[in-house]
Amino acid sequence: MPDLAIIGAGICGLRCAEILQAAGITVELFDKGRGVGGRLATRRHDHWRFDHGAPSLHGETAHWCQRFHHYPAWDCDSNARHYLPELGVNQLAKDIAEPLSIQRGCQIESIERRSTGWYLVNQHGSEHGPYANLVITAPCPQTQVLIKTLDTPITKSLADVHMTPAWVMMLVTTLPMITTQELRPTHDVIRRISAEHSKPGRCFNPEEYSYVVETTVAWSKEHEENNPIDVQTTLLASLQDITSNMGQLLHCAVHRWRYAHTGRALGQPYLFDSDLGLAVAGDWCLGIGAEGAYLSGEALAKMLLESGGL
Ligand SMILES: Cc1cc2nc3c(=O)[nH]c(=O)nc-3n(C[C@H](O)[C@H](O)[C@H](O)COP(=O)(O)OP(=O)(O)OC[C@H]3O[C@@H](n4cnc5c(N)ncnc54)[C@H](O)[C@@H]3O)c2cc1C
Repeated sequence: MPDLAIIGAGICGLRCAEILQAAGITVELFDKGRGVGGRLATRRHDHWRFDHGAPSLHGETAHWCQRFHHYPAWDCDSNARHYLPELGVNQLAKDIAEPLSIQRGCQIESIERRSTGWYLVNQHGSEHGPYANLVITAPCPQTQVLIKTLDTPITKSLADVHMTPAWVMMLVTTLPMITTQELRPTHDVIRRISAEHSKPGRCFNPEEYSYVVETTVAWSKEHEENNPIDVQTTLLASLQDITSNMGQLLHCAVHRWRYAHTGRALGQPYLFDSDLGLAVAGDWCLGIGAEGAYLSGEALAKMLLESGGL
């Protein structure tokens, strides 16, 4: 029987799997996405690349920073150093995922603990298992759905965690919209504009300017269920408050992240129910973005190894 299944191959699940596999534990990951990385996401359109989740890698913890300090720096912030691979922020996840066993495009719709171990059922009704232990690293509301039929104290602990949505718009213009690498305007709708063309290795054509525009938490909450076309129209109109002339629009698309950021965090790096052999982890545990997700997966893996339960 494989030792462990992990639902979610974002940076949290990948870090957890990496440590456990290095210690000789058999780990299988499942992710509903076509690729790995979750919200460390890079989307390609023609020759353009957009980091439409986290725009770059940054942090304070030494061993998290070691993971990306060898990538080129992106000078978007005078207070902190930011880095990212030329191929996009998602490349970090791809690099960690390389030696791991991952079933991509596999959405786990239900989980069941039987006397023989954990069983997972995917969107096609196929069953995976048994596994001795199960780790879930999906955003908190998606984790709550998966564990809702289980009798576990984890359920109660998750009740106060809160995650917030974000809309992002990816666009390419023929004139520069902002003069800096990143802008965080004081605006009701727009929270941040990242100049993708200013990232290392991205300036393919000096007459094209590519951007990711992210909406504020308040606006995103209020307009979470809006039609993408309406969101795009509003965002383009809102940009007029910030930039006078963007020239011609060469590309424009929007994406909604239903669970983008942590509003209220759990306040500890993971939860573990030793009776069931079930753990939950993710960025929402510590609430400090990608760094917190990485630390959450790491802390969980170390605890599982030290507890000797695997
Ligand atoms: C627009 C935006 C801007 C951001 N900006 C920053 C920033 O500036 N700095 C920063 O540090 N962080 C930022 N973040 C947050 C950062 O991206 C996340 O904190 C981090 O990537 C979360 O990692 P994770 O592994 O916890 O979760 P995720 O990356 O969400 O990974 C969870 C994975 O679980 C999978 N999954 C979920 N349910 C299932 C299921 N039922 N079956 C199978 N797979 C499933 C998902 O497909 C996903 O791949 C931003 C995020 C967004 C969206």
